[in-house]
Amino acid sequence: MTSIQHKPQSENHWYQRPWIISGPCSAESEAQIMQGAKELAALGKINLFRAGIWKPRTRPGLFEGVGAVGLPWLQAAKKETGLPVAIEVATSQQVDLALKHDIDVLWIGARTTVNPFSVQEIADALKGVDIPVLIKNPIHADLELWSGAVERLTQAGLSKIALVHRGFSSYGNSFYRNAPMWHLAIEMKLRFSHLPILNDPSHICGRTDILQAVMQKAIDLDFDGLMIESHIHPQAAWSDAAQQVDTATLATILNQIQWRNEQIHSPLVLDEIDLLRQKINQIDEEILHLLAQRMKWVETIGEFKKENNITILQPDRWNEIIRVAIEKGNLLGLSKKFILNYYTAIHLESISHQKNIMDHKNI
Ligand code: PEP
Ligand code: MN
Repeated sequence: MTSIQHKPQSENHWYQRPWIISGPCSAESEAQIMQGAKELAALGKINLFRAGIWKPRTRPGLFEGVGAVGLPWLQAAKKETGLPVAIEVATSQQVDLALKHDIDVLWIGARTTVNPFSVQEIADALKGVDIPVLIKNPIHADLELWSGAVERLTQAGLSKIALVHRGFSSYGNSFYRNAPMWHLAIEMKLRFSHLPILNDPSHICGRTDILQAVMQKAIDLDFDGLMIESHIHPQAAWSDAAQQVDTATLATILNQIQWRNEQIHSPLVLDEIDLLRQKINQIDEEILHLLAQRMKWVETIGEFKKENNITILQPDRWNEIIRVAIEKGNLLGLSKKFILNYYTAIHLESISHQKNIMDHKNI
């Protein structure tokens, strides 16, 4: 196995910071892999070449990866370019094949992190092999599963573990493919402050126009690196076509990112209160988005009330909402006074939205 030839920066890290990983969602052909790796190596900014060999697709009938036949393609690309290579593994058999083919770094995908049986199987297969392993967050927002995967690999003796934040799926979410919920990534950063954390903007965005903004945010939040999907011909990609960029676009985006200076960069010198404040900022931002979503539903209900000649104010329903909120708030450590103030403000805003609907339509 070839290990990654990175110079550690100030501390004795096994990875370089910023750690930039790129490559196609899926390996498709030997020529695609070779050209992709050559283009990325020529940029001089990429530390690791990624390509999915086995693809866990949510629905059957989609491209499920070329399989083991693609492993020698990666070996050849590594030999030609000098770039170390990474693939996703989900079973012990895949781990064995990856190790036999000198894959340098493995990653555990979001659909695997959710399953403790699979994670344990991978951990067992890796006992005695201290290969770097990246652990993507589970599909849904469960930090215990993500933490559990770190613990399973650590217990198996692996010491080069990194986290990859790729966002969380949520029903009806449309702006992002997977909502970033940055505060959860920050929580993991606090829980496992000794582990590097990378951001995967591609699976968060699901498209390319907001990629740079998400990457910048990750860098601003002191992430240690990025895993970005890129393809020699993104429109023709066999999986995740909409979110992949070509090499030239990747180069432009990487040039435009404002890298923070090393002093602020280092998690060792970044003071803890800063991290905690960032967590609060992220939660506040998400609360705002949720409030805006709430008001959209309020408006839909306003239309319904108007059509059916129902009053805006429904005191019984509102009293019930308040009663439940006070009860739940109490269990969560929130005072009755705060709940009343907060809900009153929401109620007044909701009434004003519905009033607008009553007043401005159908007059
Ligand atoms: C991938 O990296 O191509 C992938 C399948 O990612 P995730 O597990 O985050 O969906
Ligand atoms: Mn993908």
